[in-house]
Amino acid sequence: MSESTITAKGQTTVPADIRLAIGGAAGTLQQSSQAQGSCLCGAIAFTLRFPSKWVVHCHCSRCQRAHGSAFVTWVGADTEQVQIDDAEKLLAWYQEPSGSSRGFCRRCGSPLFFRSPREAGETHIAAALFTQALDRLPGSHVHYDTHVVWVSVAETLPVEPDL
Ligand SMILES: [Zn+2]
Ligand SMILES: [Zn+2]
Repeated sequence: MSESTITAKGQTTVPADIRLAIGGAAGTLQQSSQAQGSCLCGAIAFTLRFPSKWVVHCHCSRCQRAHGSAFVTWVGADTEQVQIDDAEKLLAWYQEPSGSSRGFCRRCGSPLFFRSPREAGETHIAAALFTQALDRLPGSHVHYDTHVVWVSVAETLPVEPDL
């Protein structure tokens, strides 16, 4: 395995020749400059042009409720690098009291995106929706203080303090 690069934020980038999928194509090798994904029904598709900025597992209670899951793995990217194809205009945004917005498909209910005034210019994409390999692996856990007790995360990624 080639050496990975550890960035300042503890993110591990994966060299192009050994990119490993963390989406549906797990385990495949891929050399690409972008990755695509979609919601469950396929009506909303998106393309992320690399590089992504980070990938983290978020254990906050809002993500748990919004996705109905123990935690959500997010891919952070500059919004200008995310192309959304929504010909049927099914993408809707739920705005939280905090001002953050969560984009979801009105037909199938898939939660897709997250945007926040605190991270202006960024779009966060649910990693599980990608059907093609990303350019990096998850680098850390965030909001781990509210993690569920019924999933053990047996790994060694760093836990970032809440900001
Ligand atoms: Zn859908
Ligand atoms: Zn969260």
